[in-house]
This record gives sequence, C-alpha cells and structure tokens, in this order.
Amino acid sequence: MPLNYTDSELKLSLKSSSVLIVDDQLLSVIVLKRILAEHFNIITANSGEEAIEVCKINAPDIILLDITMGGMSGIEMCLKLKTTPESQDIPVIFVTSFENQETACWEAGAVDFVKKPINPETLFRRVRAHITIKLQQDLLSQKVYFDDLTKVFNRRYFDAHFKKVELSALREKSDYALLLIDIDYFKQYNDIYGHIQGDNALRLVAQTLTNSLQRPSDFVARYGGEEFIVVLPNTSSEGALCVAEKLKKNIIDLGILHKYSEFNFLTVSIGGSTLQPHRNNKSTLDLADKKLYKAKDLGRNQVCF
Ligand code: GH3
Ligand code: MG
Ligand code: MG
Repeated sequence: MPLNYTDSELKLSLKSSSVLIVDDQLLSVIVLKRILAEHFNIITANSGEEAIEVCKINAPDIILLDITMGGMSGIEMCLKLKTTPESQDIPVIFVTSFENQETACWEAGAVDFVKKPINPETLFRRVRAHITIKLQQDLLSQKVYFDDLTKVFNRRYFDAHFKKVELSALREKSDYALLLIDIDYFKQYNDIYGHIQGDNALRLVAQTLTNSLQRPSDFVARYGGEEFIVVLPNTSSEGALCVAEKLKKNIIDLGILHKYSEFNFLTVSIGGSTLQPHRNNKSTLDLADKKLYKAKDLGRNQVCF
C-alpha cells in the first residue's frame, strides 16, 4: 500500500469524496451546491439534528456548516461531532458572516472558515485542500492500523480504538463485550501443512470473523500471531455469547482440514467478557484472557464466558 496518492489517484478520490452542506436557508444550500457539485458528491441537511443523523449513516469527508440555524446551532453541532468518536475526525468548515463568532468556532473544533459573501474560487480551493489532507490522513491510518497479512485491524488499532469504545460506554452508561479468539493447534497446522497454507488459513479465519459481525460499530483486530480480538459495543453478555457461538461455528464450517485435531477441521477457542464501564480496559482483557485459557483447558473449539 503506498504512503502517498499519485496525482491521478488523488483526483479520483477527490471526485468520489463527499461534502455535507448544513444550512437551514435553502438559498445558501443552493449557492454552495452550485459551486461544489461538479467537483464532489454533495449531501445536504437543513438542521444540525438532521446532519448528525446523516453522519451516523454515511460519514462525509467534510462538513460545511452554517452557524445560526433553527434548533441546534452550528457551534453546538460541531461540539457534538467532535466529542463523538465516530465523527470526531470529520473536518468542519464554518460558513459565516459573523466575525465575532470566530473564536467560538475554533474552540468547537473547526478546521477553517469561509466568509460570506462567498468567493466561489476560495470556497472550492479551501474545501479541496481540507479533503486532500483528510484523504492523506485516512491513507496513513490504513497503513498504520491494518494488518498486512489478514487485512483486518492490527493491535495498534485495537489499543487506540478500544479507549474510544470505553469512553463512549462510560458516557452512555452502556456495556460492551470483548472476545479473544485463538486458533486451536495452529502450531501443528503449520508443521503439517506448511507456513504458506498457515497464512492462507489465517486470512480465511480473519475474513470469516469480519463477515460474521453485523453491526457497523463491531470490529475485529489481529491481536497476535493466531489470536484475534473482537469488540462489540453496546452488547450484553447474552448477545456476546450468541455472537461468539456463531463465530466458532462459522470457523469450523469453513471446513479447513486439520488432521492433527480431534475435530478434523481448523477450530477456534473463544474467551469472552462483558465490560461494565467502571472496570478498566486491562481487567476486561485479563478476564477474557482467563476465559480463553479455560476454553482451551476444557477441550478447545468452545466458548467460555
Ligand atoms: P493452542 O491450541 O493451545 O492454541 O495451540 P497452538 O499451537 O495454536 O498455539 P501456540 O501458541 O503453541 O502456537 C501458535 C502458532 O501460530 C505458532 C506459529 O507457528 C503460528 N503462527 C503465528 N503467527 C503466524 C503467522 O503469521 N503465520 C503462520 N503461518 N503461522 C503463524
Ligand atoms: Mg495463541
Ligand atoms: Mg492457538
């Protein structure tokens, strides 16, 4: 994966990037849209509340935000976006005619301003500059946070994002679950079938775990050699147990022959724990790890909570 876009790749990515225009005045939306529509995909919302819903379903690459709107103000909306893990990295540009609001906009987390009356050239160039930075950052994050072999998130991503999940659970007073998943007898698998086939099996297991998760906020990371971790935000222990059983079944159902194993096929053992927000990251992980050991002790190819 390259660390930088080539010019033509960047042009293509810019063309398919999306700009969310948030303004309660239809005329302003039309003016902004007319300037930007030939360069980017445009999404619109006419209130802060609607924009926040849009961001949950289809995160834009940048937001152009009016300050004064009926209902939630632009400043309030920006503050909300910047304190929500899923949307905090979306750059926000305020479109404003009020100079005395500038400090409040910076403090709310804006990356830039465009002043009314709009200069079309300035608007386009500012938006393009900030989307370019965002695309480069996304590319770097991919490089930094993805495991090259299995194409799922790596341990570094888990460490960084698990903290966000914890903060969000604390704020919303909700639970979340962790599943530690370890392939059974994988050393023997490599010994019998060779490392290349071992790598292929790791890729298949990783993709199966990913495809078995249903909520957009769930994620899989490769935790170590043949060990994966799954994070399930807002999930009770019953829910997490169901997910874990499904993962275990989907792996054996892959039908990857393993003649050393008493199950005849490649299997996983899973240790799970559900986290109440008052417990910290370490104890949640420790608990899942202990349960994983128990699953191994009890004979492998099983889930322990
Ligand atoms: P258990 O059932 O108790 O989990 O036994 P195990 O053999 O799976 O566990 P152990 O920790 O003894 O061995 C893990 C093996 O995973 C060691 C190594 O051969 C293999 N492994 C780790 N990373 C990779 C990798 O990137 N590619 C391949 N092919 N094998 C790997
Ligand atoms: Mg292991
Ligand atoms: Mg193992």
